[in-house]
Amino acid sequence: MHCLCDKTLKLTYADGEGHCGYQCQSCGAIWLPRKFVQSIKHTYHFSYTDFIANRTPVEREVSQLCPDDGHTLTDYTLFEVNFSECACCGGMWFEKGELHNLLQNYQRRSSNISALDKLDFLNLLNF
Ligand SMILES: [Zn+2]
Ligand SMILES: [Zn+2]
Repeated sequence: MHCLCDKTLKLTYADGEGHCGYQCQSCGAIWLPRKFVQSIKHTYHFSYTDFIANRTPVEREVSQLCPDDGHTLTDYTLFEVNFSECACCGGMWFEKGELHNLLQNYQRRSSNISALDKLDFLNLLNF
């Protein structure tokens, strides 16, 4: 898959914005295949069904094309965050920082490391 900013740039697997996806090393945009969007629920208190129901379509003059299958992407907004979705494969396109902003609206599930363990860890490092 290639970035929408430059068709010669390859998207690479990364999890720089709080969730894994395919990111452009040049412009920082992230592509999340539908499975990746659905898997957000494992890390955050996130419901894919609610997400799909609550987002609002946005009119845009120039539409971008899906990096995966070339279908036209539809633009949406939710929590003042903008993203595009492919009606064909359900993948989602986030410009740099947008995925991070979206995830700010969901509470992160507690990880295996408890807050107390983290404090102990910081003590060890003499913070
Ligand atoms: Zn790019
Ligand atoms: Zn697609």
